Amino acid sequence: MPCMLIFLLVVSVFHVGCSKVNSPENETADTMTDQKARPDNPYYSRTDTTKLDLPDSVWAVVLTEEVYEVARKKGTEKAFSGQYWDFEGKGTYYCAACGNALFRSDAKFASTCGWPSFFEPIREQSIVYQPDSSHGMLRTEVVCGRCGAHLGHIFDDGPPPTGKRFCMNSIVLDFELDGNTGGGASSLRYLSLQ
Ligand SMILES: [Zn+2]
Repeated sequence: MPCMLIFLLVVSVFHVGCSKVNSPENETADTMTDQKARPDNPYYSRTDTTKLDLPDSVWAVVLTEEVYEVARKKGTEKAFSGQYWDFEGKGTYYCAACGNALFRSDAKFASTCGWPSFFEPIREQSIVYQPDSSHGMLRTEVVCGRCGAHLGHIFDDGPPPTGKRFCMNSIVLDFELDGNTGGGASSLRYLSLQ
């Protein structure tokens, strides 16, 4: 019985400690869990990689106004205004329009530009590059490899090993924390078996 009490105490302390340290990440993760269902967006999937070729009229219905403005109208959110420019959670970033996996947090780096920045995508096919000559500049646009959503631009001033900087808009990224499939629930199951 004393062992059981010590075990419970350790579990409780661990749980409280995690809650305190990770509360901002947990809030984000909870939000993302809700968004994962996406009842208003039947094209959103974290597992289906089938390419989507849908007109803006469809996206206008299934996306929020803010996501649509960036994803389909190539808007840019204000620097230092997005959810992830200085976010350091460990996990995976997905396309907010279609759920396509885009970046791992391991490839994210602290950039002073005010937008979330990565040095490589999660896989080559995750994204597509397109020349962009708008606003009097010659840049390379980065779009989602599955749905074609505008994500941001890529520049050559990133850190090693690639030297690239994928400069993204937070609003078109969904983040899911590693282990978000229920660490707490596992602990409860473990307890119930004692
Ligand atoms: Zn997409």
